[in-house]
Amino acid sequence: MPPTIADIAVPIKQNKTFHYAVPEEMASSLAVGSRVLVPFGSRRVTGTVTGFPGQAGREGLKKVIEVLGERLSPELMQLAHWMSDYYLHPLGLSIETMVPRALATAKVRKNRSLRLLDGDHDMGRVRGAKQSELLFKLCDRQVIPFEDLGAYSAATIRSLVGKGMAEIIEEDEVPGSGDEAFTPDRPPELMPGQADAVREIGAAVAAGAFAVFLLHGVTGSGKTEVYLRAISQLRGTGKGSIVLVPEIALTPQLLGRFRSRFGGRVAVLHSGLTDRERADEYRRIGAGLVDVAVGARSAVFAPFPAVGLVVVDEEHEHSYKQDEGLRYHARDVAVVRAKFQDAVCVLGSATPSLESAYNARTGKYRMLTIADRVDHRPMPVVEIIDLRTLPKAPVISPALAAAAQQRLAKKEQTLLLLNRRGFSSVLICGDCGNAPRCPSCSVSLTFHKSVGLLKCHYCDFQRTPPETCPVCGGAGLKPLGAGTQKIEEVIAALFPGARIARMDSDTTRGRDAYDRLLGRVDRGEIDILLGTQMIAKGHDFPAVTLVGAVDADVGLNLPDFRSSEKTFQLITQAAGRAGRGDVAGEVVIQTMNPSHYALRHSRTHDYDGFYSEEIAYRTELGYPPVRRAVKIEVKSGQEKTAAGAAKTARDRIRALLTGRETTLLGPAPSPIARVRGKYRFQMLLLSPKRETLRMLALEARKAVEDKFRNKVQVIVDVDPVNLM
Ligand code: ADP
Ligand code: ZN
Repeated sequence: MPPTIADIAVPIKQNKTFHYAVPEEMASSLAVGSRVLVPFGSRRVTGTVTGFPGQAGREGLKKVIEVLGERLSPELMQLAHWMSDYYLHPLGLSIETMVPRALATAKVRKNRSLRLLDGDHDMGRVRGAKQSELLFKLCDRQVIPFEDLGAYSAATIRSLVGKGMAEIIEEDEVPGSGDEAFTPDRPPELMPGQADAVREIGAAVAAGAFAVFLLHGVTGSGKTEVYLRAISQLRGTGKGSIVLVPEIALTPQLLGRFRSRFGGRVAVLHSGLTDRERADEYRRIGAGLVDVAVGARSAVFAPFPAVGLVVVDEEHEHSYKQDEGLRYHARDVAVVRAKFQDAVCVLGSATPSLESAYNARTGKYRMLTIADRVDHRPMPVVEIIDLRTLPKAPVISPALAAAAQQRLAKKEQTLLLLNRRGFSSVLICGDCGNAPRCPSCSVSLTFHKSVGLLKCHYCDFQRTPPETCPVCGGAGLKPLGAGTQKIEEVIAALFPGARIARMDSDTTRGRDAYDRLLGRVDRGEIDILLGTQMIAKGHDFPAVTLVGAVDADVGLNLPDFRSSEKTFQLITQAAGRAGRGDVAGEVVIQTMNPSHYALRHSRTHDYDGFYSEEIAYRTELGYPPVRRAVKIEVKSGQEKTAAGAAKTARDRIRALLTGRETTLLGPAPSPIARVRGKYRFQMLLLSPKRETLRMLALEARKAVEDKFRNKVQVIVDVDPVNLM
């Protein structure tokens, strides 16, 4: 029996689906996952069929207006349900996150063409002037887009197809993705470490069952080549591969490596695409016209009919976490997608997140290690400069200045890493570089000027700022990392003849500006590249032989339990930019905390050493990955209302809390307490049990929504990354 009623998810805040009547003529084309246009209130919205609840009760239901082009695969539907459940986000909105805007709103117009098929085309087999004219044109042009076929009836076209002379293709002419001038590169011979990884991953891919690998390969160990081999293995099997890279690593250089291996059978998804281009790429993927989709976060939803491999490169990157709407972590979604597709997931990094390393060590993921760089290039030599021993803590120490001068003389390049912008509401000691910390949460305290107090924004502990530094007894606490501007002036004055450029989110607004700047570095038009964490990531700069971390202390003292991890990753990744060409690299780290474990272990490239100290700290305080976390944030234009809502949430949670394994930190004002006119309060729930967190978060959200209606916005962030 064809379905007469469909259950449909629509993009609204309530987590509900709705019944609609299915007009008879649509019944055969509807399935679970179909996208449809439906009336909703006074609007028309795009919804998705989630099921067919039987025949009864059809009277009075509104009707489906139209069936739209694309259909979500059963695995993507499964993923949508999982995300909705895991991230406590409405199903309809979760589905909308997976679909590009252009596909979500409009009926799809396919870019179809007619292509001549090989063979001996005997004109005697075609009937009528129109058919022979079309065949003649086809022999001339090989491929003709449907837009140019207006002069021919559908019957004429069908008849050529029916005779095996031509075929209809849906391939789009997306710029730069054609097969035409494609000569595949010759894959290099694998290094032993790569070969081991390729063998293990290859066996899992061949087995076609779910498995997750953590590929821990030092910077420059050739992880990308490992991915390329695994993707090649799947060509021709009908299963596609997905490769996620951080948006910022999605450079022409990287795409070139994929295109020279897979030609036009690569789809690229990045934020610089127009809606139309993005929709085109989705269609090529959906039609099975590509072998691999490479893209940032949202490429995890690439609509391959079947998937054999999901790679997450630089899996430790925080940009994989979406910070609004559905707050999903693409790395975690990748693992789940692979599970639903019976696929292999490879998480690659030189500095794995504590989460993934923990999962590998507890046996949930399989660990693969590549300890050597390609061609046995040496790891860079790392030197730590103790700024406390220098008079008046200079911006650039004499040692770093001398090293950069040498590079200028030899026409080699230097990267100077200026950590993130200053975070001026943390106070650090000018003598030892430590910030006062919360006695129970062990994160840096933030200074609230209006009340003159230092506060912990996890648990709301507060105190007056100490007269002297609690660590070294020194006299003046001062704002952390202020004066990025000043650092730049000093550098410009130190190296007058040098060609200096700055790379950060201001100078590289937009994809093009960013790619252009990278191009200038590649062509050797820049001697010294200054930048924030952006310059540390993923890019291969063969002529860079020196990396300087100018203010390593900024990162160490941010009010975030991951501050050490972030610093270790940043320094190790930045160091990884040095010495990728033939000349060995050198790294200089300037700090007032030379004995901090994050710096000590990055000096010796010792990930395991870092991991064991960091996991001990996380275990002691019960932070992730040892326990799971959910952040609850409330926002309001009125400070009092926000504070009241935070209390309501807290009271509800406290009433339900039992036992000691689950704890509530806060509420407290967020460290950046006011954003776009809204006051923010946050609290952090920690528990080994996901179910407990889920229940508490839902109850707290409901309590606030019941009491404050829409005067307060409640945001539930599962597995939060941003705690500022
Ligand atoms: P990672 O991502 O691990 O930092 P890449 O994949 O970027 O490293 O590889 C570093 C460089 O080494 C690239 O230029 C790559 O083309 C090259 N490379 C990778 N594998 C090999 C190999 N087996 N032989 C020679 N060169 C290789
Ligand atoms: Zn605290």
